[in-house]
This record gives sequence, structure tokens and C-alpha cells, in this order.
Amino acid sequence: MMIYNTMTGNKEAFEPIHRNRVNMFVCGPTVYDEAHIGHARTYIAFDVVARYLAYRGFGVFYLQNVTDVDDKIIKRGAELGITTAELARRFEGRYLEDMCTLGVESVSLYARATNHVPEIIDQIKRLIEKGYAYETETGVYFDVSKFPEFGALSHQTPDSLTKHRIEPDPTKRNPADFSLWKKREEKLAWDSPWGKGRPGWHIEDTAITETYFGPQYDIHGGARDLIFPHHEAEIAQAEASSGKKPMVKYWMHTGFLNINGEKMSKSLGNFTTIRDLLTRFSPQAFRLFVLSTHYRSPIDFTEGSLDQSTRSLERISNLVQSLNDHMKNAVMESYEADEEMVRALESARGKFLEAMDDDFNTSLALSVIFDLVRDLYRYIGDEKSSKNVLSQALNLFAELGGILGLEFKAQPAGKLGLTDDLVELIMEIRQKLRERKDWMLSDEIRDRLRDLKVIVEDKKVK
Ligand code: AMP
Repeated sequence: MMIYNTMTGNKEAFEPIHRNRVNMFVCGPTVYDEAHIGHARTYIAFDVVARYLAYRGFGVFYLQNVTDVDDKIIKRGAELGITTAELARRFEGRYLEDMCTLGVESVSLYARATNHVPEIIDQIKRLIEKGYAYETETGVYFDVSKFPEFGALSHQTPDSLTKHRIEPDPTKRNPADFSLWKKREEKLAWDSPWGKGRPGWHIEDTAITETYFGPQYDIHGGARDLIFPHHEAEIAQAEASSGKKPMVKYWMHTGFLNINGEKMSKSLGNFTTIRDLLTRFSPQAFRLFVLSTHYRSPIDFTEGSLDQSTRSLERISNLVQSLNDHMKNAVMESYEADEEMVRALESARGKFLEAMDDDFNTSLALSVIFDLVRDLYRYIGDEKSSKNVLSQALNLFAELGGILGLEFKAQPAGKLGLTDDLVELIMEIRQKLRERKDWMLSDEIRDRLRDLKVIVEDKKVK
């Protein structure tokens, strides 16, 4: 198996540090808002990486952090008049629901930053003791001039790095130094040897990975935007505090998901949440859409391309349904076309695995499935089909679909969404609640419907 390593810029043969065991960490979400389809792209990609490694016989431990304390969470909590912890738990819960809907099932452990503050403090203490970090009146900072490898992952020279003013703060020694501990007198703050405060942006990840994996592990993932400065900072923190190099054997980065050729951002107003998307398209169609592009390439999201993925998924699912239907009447006899079809099935499995072995090329792997679909339509079109071939084909779809997290079941016709009947039923129940003056529950139903883009207006009847 070959994996492209951002650190070396090459595809490398995959050999885990501990024989058959793979420790993999992927940067998790900052839970201050709904998860969007860019998150979904990255997490579906790594879900397939974990699934494929498990299929290939590795024992995979997939760890993901949840950033549940940070400036954005504190700000949003204050805006909504709830505590930082309440806000973080709300969006963490919704994120986990979204992942479940999308079939992202391979994460072994989610680790919250706020549950690892003692480990974070311990790592910072070691960095200060070893001379890599220093304290000022605003916090504790990592001194990048003490770590010459800083910049290696993003292939930058120390000179070019001085241009980056990471986290402007007049008390820092160098512009590129980054924060390990922020001194703050806020409601959500922890005691530390440097006074009350909270962790900097990068340190939770290395404290969490050190806790569960030790100082070195196999795969670290995230989207490209995190290469600099986040992942550079992680390398500096982990390798300087443990003295062990490299912290990570393979660095994997996903390309960004853009919308209609533009970067997706709140300010541009082209921000699509996973929940919003799933009122119009099925989770399986979105998975197919994501996997149709290699994980390292950017993806351009358009409604048209999702329509196309919905149709492609229907084509495969309809074939699988036809194979099942044919099974009912098929005989144990073999026919002339069988031999060729069995060869095509074996060759498809081989080509699919070859594509996946080549840096998880899901796009090529899917094209193998589409070719097979064409061949099988031809095979069953001849009317005479043998049980043996049909069951081999069905098993193969289940096997390859399982790797991609695609079920290839008969899909409900058209796009998924709330049917008019269902909305009408909910409205009737809500009306009864209003008649009983249960305003709290009826308001909650109205708010939840608004999340699903169904706007309910209560007009006063004179
Ligand atoms: P965040 O919640 O912004 O910290 O992001 C969580 C993960 O999603 C990180 O690995 C990000 O790099 C990734 N991510 C954020 N936006 C996008 C996007 N538009 N496309 C792909 N991945 C993204």
C-alpha cells in the first residue's frame, strides 16, 4: 500500500510502527456552530481511509479531538446567553449526529480538549524545562528559534516564516512564536503554574495524542488549511517535549471543498451545513459525490454535481435490486456468459483494491464499480443468469460498498426531504399542543422545523 506523505512530498510504502496496528489521529471540529459540508468532505475521506486499513487487516485505532474551548466558542456562547460548556455540548452532539447520518462510523475515540487540561499543562511544563518555551505576562509561548525543523511540513524556510505573524502579541520574542497557554481571568479557566487561563490553539492535539498513542504514531490527518501553522506547531510541541522524532510517520491532508468555484465561508454567504444539504440530498449520494474525487484534490460543490451523484447511486442500487430479483428465478446451471462474467468480477475486485492501495484512489475505485455495473446489466439482460454468478456479484457489491461506506440499496425515488404529508401531520400535532397552551413544546417544534427550512408563521385569528 502506498500513501502520499505531505512531509516528504512522495508516495511511500505503508508500514505501521507497530507491525499490524495503526494509530491514526485526525483534527476534529471546533464545536461552536453547525458542521458544514467541508467538514463532511474531510471526515468522509478519513472514514474511508480507516475502513480500508481495517479491510486490509490492520487493527486501527482512530482518534479525534473535539475542540470545546476557544475564542469562537466563548464569543458565541456569550451571544446566545449560555455557558461555553453548554454551547460546546450542543454542537458536539449535533456534529456526532451528522457524522452518524453520513455513515462516518470508524472513529474509535473522541477526546475533548477540556478533559485533558492536566496533560496539556504537563506538556507545557516539560517544554519550559527543556528551554523550548517561555512565560510572559500574557501567557506561555513556544520559541520557534529553538526548533530548527519548524517549517519542514509546509516546506518553508526559517526566513520566510518570520513573515508570518502568528497570533500578534507584543510580549513574544519572535513573530512566529505561538501560544501554549493563554493567561485569562474568564469563567472557563483552569489553574496552572502560570496562573489562571486556558490552552493555546495547538497544544490540545499533542497532549491528547501523547496520552493515547505515546510520542510517536502512524497517521495524522486534516484538511490542507491546517498544515501551517497548526500541524507545524504540533510537530514542534511533540518532538521538543518528548525528544522523539518523528512524531508522525505519514501526514495526510485533504483538499478543500469549495462552492461553485469559490471558497466556502460565512462572510460570502455560500455556507452550506450538513443538515441543510440533507434536506435535499441523501447522505449516500453525498458520500458518493465526495468519493468521486481523490481526497487530496479540491472538490467543487454544485447542486448539479449532487444531482449527478444521486443518479449514479440510483444506477448502482437499481442494478443491485435487479440482481436480487433475478436471484429468485435463477438456476444452478451455468451458461456460456458465466465464465466471462466471473472473470470480470475477479478483475474488478483486483482493480478496485489496486486503486485503493495507490493512496486511497476512491475516484478510480468508483470507476471500476461503474464499469462492472455496465457489464452486469449486460449479463442479466440476456435473461439466462446463474445463481452462482449473481451471488458472487452481490457479495462483491457488499464487500466493496462496505469499504466506501456505501450500501447500494434501492434508494427512495428522487431527492430526500420532508414529504408534504409528514409536514402536515407535524402541523396538526403542533396545533393540538397550542390548543392545550403547551407553548414551550409548540415553539420548539417551530424552531426545529425552521432548522429543516420549513417556516411556520402563527397568525392571530381575529
Ligand atoms: P474546524 O472545525 O474549522 O476546526 O475544522 C475541522 C476540520 O475540517 C479540519 O480538518 C479542517 O481542515 C476541515 N475543514 C474545514 N473546512 C473545510 C473545507 N471547506 N473543506 C475541507 N475540509 C475542511
